[in-house]
Amino acid sequence: MHKISDLHIHSKFSGGASKNIDIFNIAFNCNMKGINLVGTGDCLHPLWIKELKNNLIEYSDGLFFTPEVPDVNFILQTEVEVIWKNNFNVKKVHFILLFPNFEKLSESIEFLSKFGNLVKEGRPKIYNSAENLIFGLKSIDRDIEIIPAHIFTPFFGIFGDNTHFNTMKDALGDGTNYINSIETGLSSDPLMVRSISELNKVSVISNSDSHSTNFHRLGREATIFNFNKLNYQNLVDSIRRNKIIKTYEFKPSQGKYYYDGHKPERHFDNKDYFCSPKLYIDTCPYCKKKLTKGVLSRVQELSDQTNPFKLNFQYIVPLLQLISIVLGGTEYDRKNLTVYQELIADNGSEYAIWEGKSNFDNCPENLVEAINKIRKGKFWFIPGHDAVYGKLQFEN
Ligand SMILES: [Zn+2]
Ligand SMILES: [Zn+2]
Repeated sequence: MHKISDLHIHSKFSGGASKNIDIFNIAFNCNMKGINLVGTGDCLHPLWIKELKNNLIEYSDGLFFTPEVPDVNFILQTEVEVIWKNNFNVKKVHFILLFPNFEKLSESIEFLSKFGNLVKEGRPKIYNSAENLIFGLKSIDRDIEIIPAHIFTPFFGIFGDNTHFNTMKDALGDGTNYINSIETGLSSDPLMVRSISELNKVSVISNSDSHSTNFHRLGREATIFNFNKLNYQNLVDSIRRNKIIKTYEFKPSQGKYYYDGHKPERHFDNKDYFCSPKLYIDTCPYCKKKLTKGVLSRVQELSDQTNPFKLNFQYIVPLLQLISIVLGGTEYDRKNLTVYQELIADNGSEYAIWEGKSNFDNCPENLVEAINKIRKGKFWFIPGHDAVYGKLQFEN
């Protein structure tokens, strides 16, 4: 059976996250999206663990559900920021961690709390080398899965410009042997990952990294797996053996860090600046400071092969975002949410629509046209850069 998963989200205890996130609304909104399997987010945080234990029931080994929304399964998941010194430079890299059960989670908490404050932040800072982190967690349980998050993003991606590792081996040493998968992040796609030969041996997954349960954030990128039986072991096996059916992706140019650039807020007259890495411009023409180098730049620097893989992924745009672009207003307007909810009621879920369900009797004509353009790939973005999302444009 095919299951659509989002294995990287955050709870209300992460910085910048919406304060009304709870288990019920994660599950309810995942169900509307068509997400069957979701990370808990922030599972090292004591108050969030309390909510998880109070609201979740074990479904099968390592997977959980809430009785109000039985079709959505949860997996114990967090993101950590690992901070260490490497050749006199401070490195900060984000990793997704998946845990097989609450027992191994509490052993991991005991270990990780030696290196950071797990209470202060849903996504805690861990002051230890990534290599030590990997060996420490693997000595607790080989089935704890460690996945470098949004690998090319400038500030916390393992290959991002500020982190600036050129190989996984440089960053993780022998810990590299335990890395089976990487997360693309919104500003890159499997094509970009597969241009780097060191990554041939890992699988590629996509997740939302959502800090809210809004329909245009939660599950905005996702991965489809095929399981005979849904449990933690089978999920980890699928990740390790690259048994991934497909991923749903943002076009990388929609992501916040695709091109090199400076966001408007950096300049006194609010002027925006961005450029293709092909121009080899390092310095901002307005403020003369170093540009924030985007994902495309880093991929061009690291790329060493033409893609040897048969790739299976699909570009999408979050449906609620598309509705608000086409009908006007924002994703928070009641009228746009109503259109979204009607479309879901008529088609089952958002991903059912991206898979071709087309019950559009109650849907405005121009919105139907826009959905069809997204399905056919007839769209592009004014590229995102320096924390500014790309802006959607349609082809004729
Ligand atoms: Zn992150
Ligand atoms: Zn500037």
